[in-house]
Amino acid sequence: MGNVAERPSMEDLEESEALRRLYEWRELVDEECGDCDFYRFCLGGCPYNAITIRDGEMEIDGVDHQCEAYKMIFAEINRRANREFLESGILGGNKKTKRPGVLDIMMK
Ligand code: SF4
Repeated sequence: MGNVAERPSMEDLEESEALRRLYEWRELVDEECGDCDFYRFCLGGCPYNAITIRDGEMEIDGVDHQCEAYKMIFAEINRRANREFLESGILGGNKKTKRPGVLDIMMK
């Protein structure tokens, strides 16, 4: 956004290419992530991961490039959490495992 040695003002930072690109990315997230079941966990991922360098120029050509991986990971966490919850005994299940699971991590 700027060089700290040059002591940029807030106005300088607001006019920076990096901040303009960040706003560009945020608009893409609003368009592409609106219907995603995992938005409240992911928030569109990381803007850095959305950067593509093409012919030496920086482009923002989508949301985080790890999007499909995030969806798979969040879906798996969701599946495991639901299974562990149902097996926890709270709803009448009786399976107790000694190994910590996703729910143990979520409850910490
Ligand atoms: S998983 Fe993909 S679609 Fe969902 S919020 Fe994250 S980046 Fe957007």
